[in-house]
Amino acid sequence: MKIAICPGSFDPITLGHLNIIRRTSKIFDEVIVCIMHNSAKSSPMFSVEERIDMVKRAVSRYPNVRVDAQDCLLAEYAKNYPGCVIVKGLRASSDFEYEFQMNLANKKINPQMETMFLTSDSKYNFLSSSLVRELAYYGGDLSGYVPNELIDEINNKAKNWRKK
Ligand code: ADP
Repeated sequence: MKIAICPGSFDPITLGHLNIIRRTSKIFDEVIVCIMHNSAKSSPMFSVEERIDMVKRAVSRYPNVRVDAQDCLLAEYAKNYPGCVIVKGLRASSDFEYEFQMNLANKKINPQMETMFLTSDSKYNFLSSSLVRELAYYGGDLSGYVPNELIDEINNKAKNWRKK
């Protein structure tokens, strides 16, 4: 069975992430969406528990996709699934340098680990979680950026943030 791991912070999950997850689910037998705690990124908008819940709701229509969370290096986590492939989305211009560097570092820790990149759908090339957080903070319309069923939750969280 071929397993793919789609890692990320998903703070929050966007339609760009979901596009990559859906396309990966058509290629692999099983997809694990792994929410990384990512200590390098300070003050996330959503707790890991909230992100797990949101990602679970967003991927519930894909039967071969499941959700996990991890607070270790991705290269270590991947050792639990021998032969798995890491699948990441690649947006034009913004992701390449970072991903190339990460891949070299990961290979040192786990030489068996392979990473594949799916190019971003042109509709979502500009889309990032940080853009969604910024829009939500200033009360912008999130439709077309995140799954519809998550819009209220993200707006409510942003409202509470503004009050702080
Ligand atoms: P990270 O914290 O690793 O940056 P993200 O949650 O922002 O995690 O993104 C996880 C993965 O999804 C990364 O591989 C990133 O390149 C990819 N990704 C994020 N947004 C998009 C998008 N709009 N289209 C395609 N891939 C995306």
